[in-house]
Amino acid sequence: MILDGKAVAARLRAEMKQQVEQLKAQGITPGLAILLVGEDHASQVYIRNKRRACEELGIHSELHSLPEQTTQEELLEQVEALNRREDIHGILVQLPLPKQIDEMAVIRAVDPNKDVDAFHTVNVGRIMLGDYDFLPCTPAGILELIHESGISIQGKECVVVGRSNIVGKPMAMLLLHEHGTVTVCHSRTPNLAEITRRADILVVAMGKAKAITRDMVKPGAVVIDVGMNRDENGKLCGDVDFAGVLQIAGAITPVPGGVGPMTVTMLMRNTITAASRCCSQ
Ligand code: NDP
Repeated sequence: MILDGKAVAARLRAEMKQQVEQLKAQGITPGLAILLVGEDHASQVYIRNKRRACEELGIHSELHSLPEQTTQEELLEQVEALNRREDIHGILVQLPLPKQIDEMAVIRAVDPNKDVDAFHTVNVGRIMLGDYDFLPCTPAGILELIHESGISIQGKECVVVGRSNIVGKPMAMLLLHEHGTVTVCHSRTPNLAEITRRADILVVAMGKAKAITRDMVKPGAVVIDVGMNRDENGKLCGDVDFAGVLQIAGAITPVPGGVGPMTVTMLMRNTITAASRCCSQ
């Protein structure tokens, strides 16, 4: 089975569009502000996708594009101004930031109620406790894709390869909340293949093109490929050798068209959640 993130994302977005219409009927247009510092090409592509999704759903989006030399103080001022704005419900600081800026200081400055990336320590802590409003977009999208595909996590052997703060760690926590038995691997893990071969559900977020090969996967496993890399021909590819693993996996996400569209869709969900809170206050 190919886990078609694009199709699931389209279904979810149709529902979200209605939620946005309901909010608008109550006088609230969800608003997302994106802060970009510098001209990183990949960031510009990601932002374009995010703004396109906003447009499709009727969410107001605005891009605050700052020059590469922006100081931390200047960026923090922008964040504070957006924190104060009532028409902006979600604030997203596009990472990576230039070297002169401390990413954690900026993330800490975002109002946790507007932290639609769920990177703020308050939201990270709440996720740890299982009491949250926002989930980080990529792990949330993966969870949604697993649920929508009718795959159960409870009691399954789950292996996450990668321990980044934005993908690996929160992913492991979500699988644990859903009663999976979770192992997290990283670059210092010896005998990676031995561990990945145990997985009923294997989530790979390494950033290494086609690193997970057929011999590293248990027959019938669910394989979720988060990676976004360029292969030797410059073609977009994941961390999983798709052609080889497809022959043995029970279910697998393609790249592109798997996790990527789900990630953007979860950003839309978080923005709607943030705006909905205005209604309930
Ligand atoms: P990071 O570079 O922050 O983390 C990579 C992780 O992989 C690290 O924990 C690292 O270990 C681990 N790793 C690297 N090499 C190995 C190895 N040989 N064996 C085992 N573990 C290894 O990446 P991200 O988590 O931010 O992203 C991962 C990938 O997912 C990237 O390709 C990125 O582009 C993509 N991505 C895709 C998204 C989407 O929407 N589709 C969203 C976010 C990311 P250690 O900690 O020891 O260094």
